[in-house]
Amino acid sequence: MLTLACTGAVAKHAEQPIAIAIHGGAGTIEKSRFTPEKEQAYRAKLQEAVEAGYKVLENGGDSLDAITKAINILEDSPFFNAGKGAVYTYDESHELDASIMDGRNRQAGAISGVKHVKNPINLAREVMDSSVHVMLSGEGAEEFAKKQGVELVKSDYFNTPDRYKSLLRAKEKLRQKESGTKNYQAAHQSLPVELKMGTVGAVAVDKHGNLSAGTSTGGMTAKRYGRVGDSPIIGAGTFADNQSCAVSATGHGEYFIRYNVAADICARVEYQNKSIEQAGKEVIFGPMFQSGGTGGVIIVDSQGNISMPFNTKGMYRARKSNSTPTYVGIFK
Ligand code: ASP
Repeated sequence: MLTLACTGAVAKHAEQPIAIAIHGGAGTIEKSRFTPEKEQAYRAKLQEAVEAGYKVLENGGDSLDAITKAINILEDSPFFNAGKGAVYTYDESHELDASIMDGRNRQAGAISGVKHVKNPINLAREVMDSSVHVMLSGEGAEEFAKKQGVELVKSDYFNTPDRYKSLLRAKEKLRQKESGTKNYQAAHQSLPVELKMGTVGAVAVDKHGNLSAGTSTGGMTAKRYGRVGDSPIIGAGTFADNQSCAVSATGHGEYFIRYNVAADICARVEYQNKSIEQAGKEVIFGPMFQSGGTGGVIIVDSQGNISMPFNTKGMYRARKSNSTPTYVGIFK
């Protein structure tokens, strides 16, 4: 009896691991394009975000709060394609997408095509917590933001010189290519990857073993207005379920939607008993990649394991857990 009681007590107090991983987009991110100062600035921002999220977990906070905190820091930085640093649409405006998912109960919230929401992940969270819907778009989403007291900004808040230069370069390339191919879609498809991609996201497990995932983006440079990528689509860009894992994706959204990337990774973990590392590799380097889909994901499971596979030259990323120190990476 005594032995049993003691064993029970030990098991009960076995420490639940806590862990968080973040990304700031994948693409043609090569060391030669960075000055040492620029690289240092990106690393510092990623470190700030991952550590702020980790602190929430360390203080006993839940994983939804931890990922929201980390994503807000990345959204407020002009370095990443989300919030402040969102890329331009073809007609020179900004349309932001975001989604969040709670692994405890598969509750989820998403928004697409908003133009005045400073931190789109906060609005996605409001949709999850305070509406009966999963996704709101455009004007309806902004109306809901007003009602919920989510911070709105004038659209020029999102204007940044570097993103504008990228748009002009993308448009110039589109003009050249379009005259050759006579086909907007083919021309857009062949734009250099660095002109198209970027996004931010976070995944975490908290001290109760609850998983969460969130993703926020400006989409792709020179996208058509009204275009919706994978980031606000539950299952494609974001997924979390305590039974398997939490995933946030970044990459060529059209492929990530068609290959249902985030949900596919978690399905392999749940139904095929694969590790997150194995499942992530299979999906990121599998048929999607072979058909031209580039990008990467961050994944966490309830044991605090973290995996961050990508099939591009680089992915802004960082992670921290109770058993591993902060790691920040940019290149392969
Ligand atoms: N996945 C995002 C989108 O397609 C872009 C990115 O992550 O680079 O909108």
